[in-house]
Amino acid sequence: MGTAKTHVDGRETVELLKGLVRINSVNPSLVEGAPGEAEIAEFVAEYMREIGLETRIEEVEPGRPNAVGILKGAGDGPALMLNGHLDTVGIGYMEIDPLDPVVKDGRLYGRGTNDMKGGLAAILSATKALIDSGVELKGDLVVAGVCDEEYASIGTERLMDEVTADAAIVGEPTGLQIQVAHKGFAWIDVETRGVAAHGSRPDEGVDAIAKMGKVLIEIERLGDVDLKRKRHRLVGSPSIHASTIQGGRELSTYPDYCKLQVERRMIPGEEDSDIEAEMSSLMTSITAEDPKFQGGHRITFVRGPMEISPEEEICQVLRGCVLDVSDREPQFIGSSGWLDTQIIWKNGTPSVAFGPRGAGSHAAVEFVELNSVVEAAKILELAAVRFCGTESPS
Ligand SMILES: [Zn+2]
Repeated sequence: MGTAKTHVDGRETVELLKGLVRINSVNPSLVEGAPGEAEIAEFVAEYMREIGLETRIEEVEPGRPNAVGILKGAGDGPALMLNGHLDTVGIGYMEIDPLDPVVKDGRLYGRGTNDMKGGLAAILSATKALIDSGVELKGDLVVAGVCDEEYASIGTERLMDEVTADAAIVGEPTGLQIQVAHKGFAWIDVETRGVAAHGSRPDEGVDAIAKMGKVLIEIERLGDVDLKRKRHRLVGSPSIHASTIQGGRELSTYPDYCKLQVERRMIPGEEDSDIEAEMSSLMTSITAEDPKFQGGHRITFVRGPMEISPEEEICQVLRGCVLDVSDREPQFIGSSGWLDTQIIWKNGTPSVAFGPRGAGSHAAVEFVELNSVVEAAKILELAAVRFCGTESPS
């Protein structure tokens, strides 16, 4: 451990985390009938009120609230946002009771321990420690527990309409490394049209499924060859894969229609327009070689990639805090998965992901390493002090 003085009470942090895990906050957009964020938002808001934040619960959609707390700065220093999502993915397939957190070998097991109630507990503990220390920040500290990150991120989208900050830290599990980049994704519908005809009449029928086969071959080639040539130093290559396919009416009829859904993962630097151009060129090349090919495509949803420079102030502040708390040089990393950091970054606020170490997000066995939760809390406490500035140096 490093030499920095922090005020986090590790035992309290762990108890807080257990309390968060005990509340079922499965996202109802993922699992029908799941409870959503109402109860956990109330729990988080109550915690924030008790430690002295200006707190409000913001209903983004019925039963889908954000809990937002603000620690007003005493001066005009820069504002920092600490952001953590309240929702989790489903629990139906888990091996250990997902809502009864169990400690074993320094790990806490349960749904959301890693993704990301561990990070949320670190954020809340860091804020409490800061207040307990008596230090007065110059800039505002915004603490946000947001809904729906696991589905459509309506929570952070609404949050960015209402609060501003000069930088943000999203407490997702990064193994205490500083995540400055991640991939994005685009969902694409592809349709092919054929001509329905009796199965014995090849002269009349055009097989829409076989035509889609040409699209599939091109998609595989695109992924195996062209996309592998592109490479980002932190997140690797972009990729593309087929997700679902539908077509055909009955065994003795030429299929007149086929629909394919495709996912294209994007690397920093790639825009929506690049994906559109790539798909257009793929479809055009098939049409040029097959006059009977009739098809079209449409991009239905995009969550873009993001990247910020390690030279950004928030990155350098965090780096210094990791060094001083943990006596360890952190790495600047990228990840394949998409995070709320992208929404914040797209709004013009430099944002990074930083949080504890664990495993099993979205899996049957999920855990977080408790030491790393406490360490994250200490680092976040110090980061808020250093980023927002203090009236009198602590
Ligand atoms: Zn997450």
